[in-house]
Amino acid sequence: MSDNGFDHQKLSNRILLALGLGLVVGLALNLTVADVPWVRDYLIGGLFEVVGEIFIRFLSMLVVPLVFVSLIAGVSSLSDPKTLGRVGGKAVGLYLLTTGIAVTLAITSAIIVKPGEGASPDVIEEREIAAQPSFAEVLVEMVPRNPVEAMAQGDMLPIIVFAVLLGLAIATAGRAGERTRDFFADFNEVIMRLVGYVMMIAPYGVFSLIAVLGATTGWQTFLGVLQYVVLVFVMLILHAVVTYSILLKVFTGLSARTFFRKLRTVQAFAFSTASSGATIPVTLKTVEQRLGADNKVASFTVPLGATVNMDGTAIMQGIATGFIAQYYGIDLSLTQYLMVVLMVVMASVGAAGVPGVGLILLAGVLAAVGLPPEGIALILGVDRLLDMTRTAVNVTGDAAVTTIVAHSEGELNLAVYDDRNAGL
Ligand code: ASP
Repeated sequence: MSDNGFDHQKLSNRILLALGLGLVVGLALNLTVADVPWVRDYLIGGLFEVVGEIFIRFLSMLVVPLVFVSLIAGVSSLSDPKTLGRVGGKAVGLYLLTTGIAVTLAITSAIIVKPGEGASPDVIEEREIAAQPSFAEVLVEMVPRNPVEAMAQGDMLPIIVFAVLLGLAIATAGRAGERTRDFFADFNEVIMRLVGYVMMIAPYGVFSLIAVLGATTGWQTFLGVLQYVVLVFVMLILHAVVTYSILLKVFTGLSARTFFRKLRTVQAFAFSTASSGATIPVTLKTVEQRLGADNKVASFTVPLGATVNMDGTAIMQGIATGFIAQYYGIDLSLTQYLMVVLMVVMASVGAAGVPGVGLILLAGVLAAVGLPPEGIALILGVDRLLDMTRTAVNVTGDAAVTTIVAHSEGELNLAVYDDRNAGL
C-alpha cells in the first residue's frame, strides 16, 4: 500500500520519538517554568493543548465512517454469511476469555500484594457516580432506533449491527448487490488513505498530548498510592506480554515477537489518546496491512473489540477493588470476588472505549459488592496515566484476538505477518 516504504518506517519511529520527547519536555516544564503565566496559558494550555485536541479530533473524525464502510466492505464480500456467525462467536468468546483472565490475575495480585494497606492518599472527596447500564439495556441498545443517530453519537455496537445487516443484504442482493459491494470496497481503500494522512500529523499530536500530561500532572499525588500504581503497571505489562504471547502461540503458533514489534505504533496512539475508540483507524490499518488479517475478519473484530474487550481496564478494576476494600479494612469473601470478576467482564462489554470510562464503571462494580463507591476518589488523581497505559493493553488485546480469529479462519496472510516491512 505504500508509496515509499522508508518514509513510513521513519514515520512510526518518529511517533515513538515524539512520545519520548513529549514526556521529557513536559516533565522539564513541570519542574521549571510551568507556573509562569505565559508558559501555562500560551504554550501548555495554548499551543500544546490545541494541537493535541485537533489530533484527537482528526482521529475521531475517521472512526464512524471507517468502521461503517470497512465493515460493509468486509461483510458484503463474505461468500457464506454463516462465516460471520462463526467469526463473531470466536471473537466474543476470546474477548470474554482474555478479560476474565485479566481480572482474575488482577484480583489475585491485589490479594497477595495488599496495596491498600498503608496507603495514604491526601484527600477523599465524595464523587457523583454515574449509573451503569444493565445487561438488558445493553442488549436493547445494540439495535439502533435510527442509524444516523447512532453514528452521530458514535455508538459503536448499534453501528456494527446496522453495518453487518446492510453488508449481508448487499451480499445476497444479486447484481445490485455486486455493484454496491464494489463501491464500498473502493470507498474503503479511499478512507484508508485518509487514515494515512492523519497518521502523518501524529508525531505532532502525540508530542503535544504527552507534553501537556507531563507538564500538568502533580506527580506527588502518586506517592500516597504508589503501591497501587506500581501493581497496576506491572500487571498490565505482565498480561500484555505473557497472556497474549501464550494465546498467540497456542492458537496460531506464530511469533509473538513479530506481533509486538508491529503493534508499537498502535500502542503509542492508544497511550497518547487514552481511547481505544479513537485508535480504531490505526488498529485496523495495522492488523490488515502489517499483520495480514483480512478485512472480512478485522473490520468486524476490531471495532467490536474496541467496545467489548477491555483487558487493561479489567486489570485496573480488579486491583482497584482489592485496594479500596483493603483501604477501608473490609474483607471480601470468595463469592464477592467471583462477583467482581463477573461484573468487570460484563461492564467492559457495554462500555465505549473512551478516556476515563473504566473509572466510572468501577463505581458499579464497587456498589455490587457493597464497597463504598466514594473510594474511587482515592485513585482518581492517578488515573489518567493508568488510563493511557491500560488503553494500550486494551488495543493490544483487540489485535491479538483479531490475529487469532483471522488465522483460524484461514484469513491471515502469513507472508505479510512474517514480513518486517509489510504495510509500510
Ligand atoms: N480509556 C479506555 C479505553 O478507551 C477505557 C478505560 O479504561 O477507561 O479503552
